[in-house]
Formats: sequence, C-alpha cells, structure tokens
Amino acid sequence: MTVTLIDGRELSQEIREKITNEAALFKEEGTSPCLATVLVGEDAPSMLYLKIKHRSCEQVGIKSVNHRLPGNTTEKKLLEYINGLNKDQGIHGILVQMPLPQHIDSYTVVNAIDPKKDVDGLHPYNLGSISYRRYNLTPCTPTAIMVMLSRYGIPIEGKHAVIINRSTLVGKPLHLLLSRVEPAQMLLFDADILLLNADATVTTCHSKTRELEKYTRDADILISAVGQRRPPRTDSKDVAVTQGAASNTKGFVINGEMVKEGAAVFDVGVTRIEGKVYGDLDFESVARKAAYVTPNPGGVGPMTVTMLLYNTLVATGMQTGRQLKYGMRELLKP
Ligand code: NAP
Repeated sequence: MTVTLIDGRELSQEIREKITNEAALFKEEGTSPCLATVLVGEDAPSMLYLKIKHRSCEQVGIKSVNHRLPGNTTEKKLLEYINGLNKDQGIHGILVQMPLPQHIDSYTVVNAIDPKKDVDGLHPYNLGSISYRRYNLTPCTPTAIMVMLSRYGIPIEGKHAVIINRSTLVGKPLHLLLSRVEPAQMLLFDADILLLNADATVTTCHSKTRELEKYTRDADILISAVGQRRPPRTDSKDVAVTQGAASNTKGFVINGEMVKEGAAVFDVGVTRIEGKVYGDLDFESVARKAAYVTPNPGGVGPMTVTMLLYNTLVATGMQTGRQLKYGMRELLKP
C-alpha cells in the first residue's frame, strides 16, 4: 500500500496565507488582532512552545504579547491578571500556557478567561458547547485533526475512529467532533466539505484499556496522543519500537502490527528525549500498513498552532462583530 503523508507544515503554510489575509483585513478596518499569552514559572518546554506561537503570530501579522509571571505567583494574583486581560479591549485572545505550577488549579484559571477570548477553546462554556453541537472556539488540536481529515479527503462517516487519549485537551473534544457535526450548524463547522467528515463510530482508549491492540487493529482512523516514549537504546534496535508497547506505559509505541491495513493514523504524542522529539509511532512500520500517516514532528503540531492563529481571528471577529472572510469554509478549500 502506498502511504500518503499528511504534511502538517505544508497545509499550515497554505492556511496561514489565508489567515494573513484576514489579519490584514482587520487592520484595514482599524483592529489589530492581538493574542496575549501568560506563562507562570519557567518550564522549558512551555517556553519553547510559546516562542513558536509568538513567532507564528508575527509571521501572519497577528500582534502578540507574552506575560511572564514568577513561579510563586498565587492563584488569586493570576486570576486578577487574567481579569485585567479580559477587560483590555486591545487583547482579543488569551492563552494561559499549561502546565501551571502545582499550587494553582488549572480549571479555576481556565474558567476565569472570558469565553470569547478563550483561543485554546478549553473554557467549560466552549468545551460544553460542543456537546450541544455549538462550535464557538474549539480546542486547537482536535480542530486541527478535523481539518486535516477534511483537507486530505479522508471519509469517516460510519468508520471506526479510535482515539488513544481521554484528556480535556485532546481526547474528549475530539471524540465529540468525530462523532457528529451538526449540518445545521452555521458557526465554525459550516463547511460542506467538513460535514463529509462526521458520523464516525468513536472509541476512546486510555491507560487502563485492556488489549489495546484489539481496538487499534480495528481502527479506520487512529489517533494516538500518549507521549510516553522511553530513550532509544544505542547498542541495538529500539526495543520499544520493535515490540510495540501497548502494555508498557513507559515505552508506549504504536507499530505497524497494531495498525489496520489502509488506516489513517495521526501521531499527536510528543516525548522529548535529550532535545529530540519522538512521536507515538514507529513511523516506518506504520507507514508500510497505513494509507495516511502524519509525521511527527511536522504533522499535527504545526496545524495545532495554525488553529490557534485561526481561533485568535475568530475571537477578534466575535469581539468586533464581523464575520470572517476566510472562515472555516475558506480554510477547507484547497
Ligand atoms: P495527558 O493528559 O497525559 O494524556 C495522555 C493520555 O494517554 C491519557 O489519556 C492516558 O490515559 C493515555 N495513556 C498513557 N499511557 C497509556 C498506555 N500505556 N496505553 C494507552 N493509553 C495511555 O496528555 P495530553 O495533554 O492529552 O497530551 C497527550 C500527548 O499529546 C502529550 O505527549 C502532548 O505533548 C501531546 N500533544 C501534542 C500536541 C501537538 O500539537 N502535537 C497537542 C497537544 C498534546 P489515562 O487517562 O488513563 O491517564
């Protein structure tokens, strides 16, 4: 089987051209779309992710500001800070970089963000709305996967989609988005082409799932978001890769034997080992079985950032009362 690479960088580049045009339109009308990020502490991966997000904003003409608060910032102080950003009319999107220090409750913090500025789409109002098939600001990674499915013309109606992840960030919203998209919905997912990509039968797996392979081998669409690789061995072949490691939490890898012939496989998980990024897949063996596969890095990651840029413009549109010219329908057109 010839595999098609779902190239997140290439697709991002193309979509970001439309985002650049939209940002320019806002500026012509006197609005400068602006994303504010908040980092508490000095978590190294968080700093790297923020750098990528700010650089991406700059590339498409979205203004961005980073607010760095010390690691010992109290929850009360952070909430006051967020409240200030909520009130600031020059700020259209707010992103609090996770993870937060242990003494701060992330639910309380996300709940404090104005839902109209919640560009991560993680506020209970925005997440809950998906259950009612109302798509306001949707979480970036699940939306990125929906857009990739759509743009690569991968039909999912009636197909079995298996998600290995049950987090609020990835698995839960993705389960809802893959299960059904309401055709009457006129907000985010109003594009006919995306509507082709609804109505999958979705299974969510996690660390307590027994016989994970039973599910992965039956998946027409497989999304793995675990991020539990272990350092590769230098003396011989990577044992985790060759064995597959569904039952080994520390060395989780999806290999070709665990994948259905002709499946579409999305690699979301990220493990950083000595500065190198590893996804969840043993890419080569999966690519021999699958019809579609995302590289990692270079797949879901860049598209997630692209959806953050898009959400910032959706949020700007909500706050200025203007419908986007390059809305989801336009983004999904080749
Ligand atoms: P998380 O909350 O830790 O979720 C990990 C999920 O994997 C959990 O549902 C966990 O199950 C499950 N899991 C762990 N070990 C397993 C095993 N042996 N078998 C089956 N399932 C297992 O993390 P997250 O925030 O959702 O992120 C997940 C991964 O995706 C991370 O590596 C993160 O860096 C990456 N990520 C990448 C992007 C991107 O843009 N590329 C975006 C978001 C996240 P339990 O629920 O039972 O613990």
